Amino acid sequence: MTRFNTQLVHGLPVGDNATGAVNPPIYNSTTYAFEKVDSMPRYDYARSGNPTRDFLERQIAQLEHGKRGFAFASGLAAIHAVLSIFKPGDRIVVGKNVYGGTYSMFHEYFADRGLSIASVDTQDFDALERAVAGDREHGVAPAQAVYFEGITNPLLDVNDVRGIANIAHRHGAIAIVDNTFVTPYLQRPLDLGADIVIHSATKYLAGHSDVNAGLVVTLSDSLGEKIYFAQNRFGGVLAPLECDAVRRGIQTLALRMDRQQANAKAVAQYLLAHPLVKTVYYPGLPAQEDELRAKGFKGAGGVLAFEVVPGVDPADVLDNLHVFRLAVSLGAVESLAELPCRMTHFELPREERLKVGITDELVRLSVGIEDAADLIEDLGQAFDIAYEQYIKRHADTDVFSALTAGVLA
Ligand SMILES: *Cc1c(COP(=O)(O)O)cnc(C)c1O
Repeated sequence: MTRFNTQLVHGLPVGDNATGAVNPPIYNSTTYAFEKVDSMPRYDYARSGNPTRDFLERQIAQLEHGKRGFAFASGLAAIHAVLSIFKPGDRIVVGKNVYGGTYSMFHEYFADRGLSIASVDTQDFDALERAVAGDREHGVAPAQAVYFEGITNPLLDVNDVRGIANIAHRHGAIAIVDNTFVTPYLQRPLDLGADIVIHSATKYLAGHSDVNAGLVVTLSDSLGEKIYFAQNRFGGVLAPLECDAVRRGIQTLALRMDRQQANAKAVAQYLLAHPLVKTVYYPGLPAQEDELRAKGFKGAGGVLAFEVVPGVDPADVLDNLHVFRLAVSLGAVESLAELPCRMTHFELPREERLKVGITDELVRLSVGIEDAADLIEDLGQAFDIAYEQYIKRHADTDVFSALTAGVLA
């Protein structure tokens, strides 16, 4: 058995290539010839199976230590396929801090179609256990599944996959982990007891902000059959060219992630010491590193968040960045910055947002592979401008209060 970094580069050949080409071919054919009417060709129609997609699906299954892998046209298409294996009446316990599109799909779509969705803080094992167990006396059946993200967005809570999966299994539920922020390079949830892993491969796996893709890996063949049914029947498959883009991205995952983490750590240290920064959320800092490792993570990834001090307008920082691009999404080679309350999390009602800790002052950074010094300089000059604006506003306020107090009259 080869090791992880070698697997990233080589994958598992699907045995379709007679040319010796070093890269797996991209097959754009939607249909495949039968030798005879009663022959059973391995491939017949591209929605049902495609060798380029097969390569990627086998590769992600290998990297996540699962049985079966599946590639979808987006992360949300992957999540939809996974949720579609449940039936009306089933209860799904969902981490309170999940991707906005996931939250909306669960609460605005599946909840209307018979699934019962319960949001819970997955850090609070007592609350989680109660939610999963249900309440037989009052007719609430145990949950069928617990769904959560390994490291949450945008506050970077670190979930304990082993502990959560244990609780799920105790009550006959499966554990489903969105591993987008973590990737199999930093943690393999199936090794820790999860049953299904999901990725928005749009992010770290593809890694270049140039392809929308989703992946699912199952621990068992039986769950794999259900996901295959959803993939083949709803048809949200990833196109061959995109499969190849994700495969190529995966080849450099470890190199990119190492740099992204080193840069994120440097940026986080800088932010910690900056007078305009109130709080830094990055589990890769020394204070949280032991907790991270105890939960089975090799690192914290390249996303971090911070709050500016009261009175400073975070937009004054964001609007003046030049190396960081002001954009949603994450996990790519270029650094991105965004304001969750106005950009990634604007769909959440303000009250809900504040309840989960996403304040109006919170800024999220997805740190890329640039020179850390350039990223830090960029933040520094943007903070300087934000401070000037802050002084200006305060000066105005002082003049105003002086006027109303009659001092300058
Ligand atoms: C982006 C994202 C998704 C959705 O993926 P798409 O590829 O945009 O459909 C799901 N989960 C997480 C954690 C994400 O960051």
